[in-house]
Amino acid sequence: PEVSALELIESTDITYDQIGGLGDQLREIREVVELPLVKPEIFERIGIEPPKGALLYGPPGTGKTMIAKAVANKTNATFIRVVGSELVQKYIGDGAKMVHELFEMAQKKAPSIIFIDEVDSIASRRTDDTTSADREIHRTLMQLLAEMDGFNRRSNVKIIAATNRLDILDPAILRPGRFDRMVFVPLPEADGRESIFKIHSAKMTLSDEIDFAELAKMTEGASGADIKAVVTEAGMFAVRGEKMSVEKADFIDAIHKIMESKKKEELPVP
Ligand code: ATP
Repeated sequence: PEVSALELIESTDITYDQIGGLGDQLREIREVVELPLVKPEIFERIGIEPPKGALLYGPPGTGKTMIAKAVANKTNATFIRVVGSELVQKYIGDGAKMVHELFEMAQKKAPSIIFIDEVDSIASRRTDDTTSADREIHRTLMQLLAEMDGFNRRSNVKIIAATNRLDILDPAILRPGRFDRMVFVPLPEADGRESIFKIHSAKMTLSDEIDFAELAKMTEGASGADIKAVVTEAGMFAVRGEKMSVEKADFIDAIHKIMESKKKEELPVP
């Protein structure tokens, strides 16, 4: 398989201050991923092994990928992203080999951060091993576990994995010594939603009447990705209306539109 099939970003431009809410989550992840990369001597001095990485879990669109990218940016690390479902679907028969190459490349490009998105696709508790597809997924997982166990904690490679489905993960991947920290990334509370609104509309021309605290109250249950969609949509309403600035009414229309389409998505499949 082509190594280029992995998404390799030499440097990302996401910074911590572009992430709304999630103060506690950022503190935790910085401690387990940033600190050992930036100040490995502290771990030496105190005499504890530095962490290998962390597992982020929580609903879709809450900023897990952003967090991983921001840490890579802060540490000047190469950011290497793989998507679990692609490993097993796109590279049929080659999943395990891709995992091996992933770790090899991370070592070569160190300092680096390996971001494994949708890790549940390769690391779910399997019901059985009867189909060849299942066996292939199993082989890919075994390779991942072997790579994680094999690599040196003191190397400049850290792993961040993400999942929306902690409940289906194979306990093997959660065993001590694999991910040193599990960090829950929740949907934002009103405060978080307010700062996410501000972050995404920072470059927009806004009418004076906009009250982000009020908009935050109207978007209970929205993820960061939903709020970003609301802001973009509000901008489009203002453009369509050929207005001088984005008005409160544009935001309210956008909230209705995005929150409605979210509700439809959540309806059970008939
Ligand atoms: P998934 O589980 O679906 O992969 P995720 O948790 O990795 O989602 P991201 O890809 O980080 O979510 O978020 C998608 C987009 O939503 C981001 O690029 C950003 O624009 C916006 N976003 C999500 N969360 C936040 C946040 N906390 N602050 C600011 N923007 C956010």
